[in-house]
Amino acid sequence: MYFDNHATTPVDPQVLDAMLPYFKEQYGNPASGNHKKGWDALSALEAARKQVGQIIGANAQEITFTSGATESNNIALLGFARANKDSGNHVIVSQIEHKSVKDTALKLKSEGFDVSFVECNSSGIVSVESIEKVITPKTILISLQAVNNEIGTIQPLEEVAKLAEKKNITLHTDLSQALTTLSIDKNKIPFDLATWTAHKMYGPKGIGALFVRQKSPRIKIEPLLFGGGHERGLRSGTLNMPAIIGFAKATQLAIENRNKDYEHLKNLRDFIWKNLSQKLNGLKLSGDLNQRLANNLNFVLPENVNMEAFLKKISPLCISTGSACTTAQIAISHVLKAIGRTDQEAQRSVRIGLGRQNTFEEAQKAVDLIVDACSLRA
Ligand code: PLP
Repeated sequence: MYFDNHATTPVDPQVLDAMLPYFKEQYGNPASGNHKKGWDALSALEAARKQVGQIIGANAQEITFTSGATESNNIALLGFARANKDSGNHVIVSQIEHKSVKDTALKLKSEGFDVSFVECNSSGIVSVESIEKVITPKTILISLQAVNNEIGTIQPLEEVAKLAEKKNITLHTDLSQALTTLSIDKNKIPFDLATWTAHKMYGPKGIGALFVRQKSPRIKIEPLLFGGGHERGLRSGTLNMPAIIGFAKATQLAIENRNKDYEHLKNLRDFIWKNLSQKLNGLKLSGDLNQRLANNLNFVLPENVNMEAFLKKISPLCISTGSACTTAQIAISHVLKAIGRTDQEAQRSVRIGLGRQNTFEEAQKAVDLIVDACSLRA
């Protein structure tokens, strides 16, 4: 039973079907301008670009393909800050960003930029006021995720975008976990840079998108990779056509299924939470219950649960815990820390990320397994 859809989602069979011809007969390189295989690849590429952009109301020329959200976040922060350093050297990011934003912000700091990390409240929400407070005349960039990938909290992106627009500051947003259940349109929310990735929306791994606003205002950004000048010079390297075609198909399915997916995931999520909280005393939800992704749960298990025995018992269930092993060390989630969880609470934390493919039968089994596993004492 796979309940770790924030880590990655399975590839939808329709996505795989769309990709396969691009490994076999349609293997042309869109940069080959001298023959039909190249021209066909180029027209498929441009149709895919248009489709991928559509999910946020962007034009095809505003979309750059990358290897995933990590790379897109790196280009957005480093590429923007380096290209605009004459306008100011201050960058604001939230404390609960994904590592690919946080660590990139630290890299900017090492290059001499002044970086403010803004805290969230104990519900996992970053307030507009806390961002406004740290803005200076030298602020050139704010980076705020649309939703958090660990505790699923939905951030006040629209209000922050309006503030950034008023203050003439560029806004970047990481949409990686948002687009399957939330409708986010760049024509309604004035963000300037946005990043997302196919493998969180039933598409393949290793392909991402970077949106760079082209008009009102036109955003200046510089590349991190140099070479053949692909993607209008912003991201050199031969394009991964099968993955791009899969990304486009996954986007089409995400748009078509969004309302249905939202309802299904919210019903599943509410069913699991209602049952778990009725059956287990002392469960604590991390992150706001209402301002939250429809497919996310993250909670602290009751005290005195034996985590080793718990994890063994729930092994038929793929879920993630609040501590991630990085090399030999156990790292406690920076997000759980930011909302005030102790190390012990973080170690007893469990994240469930539901997906389109999950069923009520699985949800019932998951509840039974978790309740059962919590009865094992230290
Ligand atoms: N940003 C967020 C919010 C994520 O959840 C992830 C994935 O874990 C990433 C960025 C990185 O995406 P990718 O795996 O495509 O590099």
